[in-house]
Amino acid sequence: MPDAKPDARAASRSKVSATVDIERSGRQVGHLAVPHSRDDSAWGAVRVPIAVFKNGKGPTVLLTAGNHGDEYEGQIALRKLIRSLDPSAIQGRVIVMPALNGPAVEAGRRLSPIDGVNMNRAFPGIRDGSVTRMIAHYVHSELLPHVDAALDMHSGGKTLHFSPLAAIHALDDPGLMARTRAAMLAFAAPIALVLRELDAEGMLDTAVEDLGKVFVSTELGGGGTTSTATIAIAERGVQNLLKHLAILAGRPETRESLGLPPTRLMRTPDQGYVIADDAGLLEMLVDLDQKVRAGQPVAQVYRLDRPSEAPVAYPARVDGVLIGRAHQCLVKPGDFVGLVAQAE
Ligand code: CA
Repeated sequence: MPDAKPDARAASRSKVSATVDIERSGRQVGHLAVPHSRDDSAWGAVRVPIAVFKNGKGPTVLLTAGNHGDEYEGQIALRKLIRSLDPSAIQGRVIVMPALNGPAVEAGRRLSPIDGVNMNRAFPGIRDGSVTRMIAHYVHSELLPHVDAALDMHSGGKTLHFSPLAAIHALDDPGLMARTRAAMLAFAAPIALVLRELDAEGMLDTAVEDLGKVFVSTELGGGGTTSTATIAIAERGVQNLLKHLAILAGRPETRESLGLPPTRLMRTPDQGYVIADDAGLLEMLVDLDQKVRAGQPVAQVYRLDRPSEAPVAYPARVDGVLIGRAHQCLVKPGDFVGLVAQAE
């Protein structure tokens, strides 16, 4: 007998197992088990929580948070959703992963402490890779083919701080861009941002966009903490997106209907990023949401070993509004200092 040919499909299937079945109707709350053999647990596995709600006919949305473990609004809003969403009230399917990079969430860190990998640079993942890459591979190979739209909620984490915003990438396909933009606006964050990334390869965003599906992200605050205001934005945004996709009945709640200023539509110009060239102590000279002019210093950096030396000024390169900033006061060359956005 010749050796059996390896089954190509079996060879490409994720090694991650799930206690939930995404084809089953109703509410299921379980976990993924990611094989992780190690000295202290020979047959061990890392568990990543996942919930599936399915009823009737309608689109499938994937809601994720904890892609970076130290960003919290999305994690809290999705845990609330898992406990409150009534499966009989939906038409379609809602897949919820409130701690996408489970080990990073448990450690309160941006990156996984197991393999040091950034989940948002790990897509499309590797079937037989490290834990973070196996989670990414599961999401890419087992979930994304069934998904019509995805929302991945970020915040600034321990080192950055953002004015609360929903964000999308500028996309070449005009039809997909229009649908993606409408989903971003339905989220009803204070700012809706068309973002240019410093480095978009390996992101969940790019993986979903490349499949021709709607992808919305957020940056809802930062500093490794939350506020009542940013959590409210996250919770309302999730409900609004489910209504926008007609998975939940009703119309999205607009900011105007809540007596809030309307969403500001903005974009990041190429020159919007301000990056440190010096190591030292960072003093912000402009607060989030303040207007800046090109050439106006947004921050200055003091050399720690030269107290008599003037600090180095970091000017904005374009007119606009400061929507992101460093949260930490110690910077090194290459660190992010600030992000200036302009009205679209
Ligand atoms: Ca993030």
